[in-house]
This record gives sequence, C-alpha cells and structure tokens, in this order.
Amino acid sequence: MKSFYYLCAKDNTNMKRTNRVLLIYTGGTIGMGSNCVTGALEPLDFNHLADNVPEFKQISTDIDTYQFIPPIDSSNMSPTHWKQILDIISERYDQYDGFVILHGTDTMSYTASVLSFMCENLTKPVILTGSQLPIGQLRTDGKENLMTSIELASTYKADGTPMVPEVCIYFNGHLLRGNRSTKQNAEEFNAFDSFNYPHLCEAGVNFTFQEHHILKPDFNKPMIPHPGLDNNLMVFSLYPGLEENIVKHALDAPGLRGIVMRSFGSGNAPQTPWLLKQLKEASMRGIVVVNISQCISGQVEMSRYDAGYHLKEAGIVTGYDSTVEAAVTKLMHLQARFSDPDTIRQYMNQSIAGEITIPNAL
Ligand code: ASP
Repeated sequence: MKSFYYLCAKDNTNMKRTNRVLLIYTGGTIGMGSNCVTGALEPLDFNHLADNVPEFKQISTDIDTYQFIPPIDSSNMSPTHWKQILDIISERYDQYDGFVILHGTDTMSYTASVLSFMCENLTKPVILTGSQLPIGQLRTDGKENLMTSIELASTYKADGTPMVPEVCIYFNGHLLRGNRSTKQNAEEFNAFDSFNYPHLCEAGVNFTFQEHHILKPDFNKPMIPHPGLDNNLMVFSLYPGLEENIVKHALDAPGLRGIVMRSFGSGNAPQTPWLLKQLKEASMRGIVVVNISQCISGQVEMSRYDAGYHLKEAGIVTGYDSTVEAAVTKLMHLQARFSDPDTIRQYMNQSIAGEITIPNAL
C-alpha cells in the first residue's frame, strides 16, 4: 500500500496521506436494476455496480468499499442511517484520504447537509454522488459522476492538504457545497444546484477550483463527530388561505421543539393577527421558529416589509439564505446539542458549516 507524509510548511501539520478512498454505497438509482416481476427500479448490491464499472481497475487510488445491507432508496433515509454514515467515517477517518458516498438523489441534499453539521472541523473530502440513470444503462451518468467524485476525494494541494475538505455533492460536472445544494430536476442529468452559493469546482477537461469559496478547516485540530440528532421539528409552508385551526393543532403537537417556516419572498407572512399571535406564543413556549424563503434564491430580510417586521417582533429568527434541507438538519443537530432555545436561536443565526451567508459578514 502506498503511503505518503507531507509536512505543511505553514503550520507544521502532519497530513498523513494514504492514497486510499472509502466508497460508501447506500443505494439509489446508480446501483438499481429492474424488478423482474413489477418492473420497478430497486437497489441492487454493490457487486452489480462494480461489475458495470471495469474502469475501477484503472484508478490509481486504492478504493475500499462499505455497503449498506440492504441498499436503500434514499426516500427511506433517516437519522439512524445518518448516524451510521457518521460512524463509518469517524471510525476510519485516519485510514482514508477522502470518502465518496453513493446515494439516491431524492434526499442527497439532506444527507449532505446533516453530515456537514455532524462532522465539526472536517479536514477531509466527503463527496456524495449518484445518478439519474442506473450505472448498467448505456447512457448512464453514473460512471462519470462516480469516477470524478473519487478523483475529487483524492485531490490534494502541494502542501498536502486536501483540495476540498468539506461535505460536497458532485453531479454533472459541478462540485457543490453539500449544505447549499438542492435537487432541482428529477429528469435532467443536471439534478443539483446551489442557488445561493458559487460552485466549488467545475469539472470539465480540467478541474477549475474556486479556492476562495472552499472551507478552510484547522488541520491541526481533530474532526469532532456529533452523532446526536433530535427530529422533533416540522417544516411549515405559508400559503394564502392558511387555516387557523390547522396551524393551532400543528403548533400544539406534543414534543415539538422547532419549526422551519417557509415564508413568502424576502421573509414575509400574512399579517393576520391570529397567525402572529400563535407564532409568538409558540416562540414564548420555547419553540424555535426559523424563517426561510420559499424562493429558490435570495435572502430573508425581515425588516424590509411590514409583513416581515411583525414576524421579527413575534420572536422568529431569520434563516437568511438557507435551503430547507440545511435549516431542517441544522435544527435537528442543534436540538440534540442544546436544551436552551435561545442558544439554538443564536446558532441558527450563525454559519457553522458555511450553510448561510450573513449579509454584514460578506
Ligand atoms: N428514488 C431514488 C433515490 O433517491 C432516486 C435516485 O437515486 O435518483 O434513491
């Protein structure tokens, strides 16, 4: 086995390179085949996937694999699976240069977001990828996504530190910050984008990295795994005609600790007195209400219109330009770490893994 040690001139960090990447196969279209009875696509085991990629043998990086048994459609992804992925990574952290996670596209952005919060001070690449067509099909996008992800996970700078020490999604030529990504298309190969953050790399003939947009962890410090997740929360979308009784029942749900509220435009809500009263009472009971926009791009600015200002007065916190996937998984992570709602509110207003842009911090 090849093993390299690089000494970072700047900070004397010893980065031990192993020239190995761990490929974690969770399931998803990339490894699917047709059920001979129903005709529906279902996940197949890793050997099927490997048999369809003879190119594996040409990769200079050593690849070990870890397979979910059984592999799952990512619609079945859950906090238990996320803890399992975290354990797989943290128990083998020093043995690999990077990690590639093969995952269904449907919930890939949730998994990428939650892992970014669960892996504090991540110093190695964790790249999620998958495909729109199974890897055995002639026109598959899976091979390119897989090969490029492995290459990205093992790309290092001259000082021995990894090029992308963060949780990313690689798809269709674009490397995206995981907790900024969203599945945008169920049919085209260009399935993901990060509407509020630049791409980290474009993989054309060459890799073009946007280095200044890539996170810079402290390579002298260890990665801290946070396995705890508390999913007592809900996503609540505003729409004209929202009914009082239904909102009241939802907010009174036993155990509810957090709400991700998808508001209009730059963070606005109807100025109906009952809605503001219910949201204010929920906040005062210790429920953390986070305001994110239903728009795919742009920021919440609650002071911009009167319709948003009242929300601020009701104790609702801004989620800035967060995706719904990042807001939900960040709340799960913070709710498990902290019992005090004000502490959770404070952290929701800070970027902890590059997931939000705070305007005056630009
Ligand atoms: N339903 C599949 C999944 O998310 C879709 C895909 O992989 O693209 O597992």
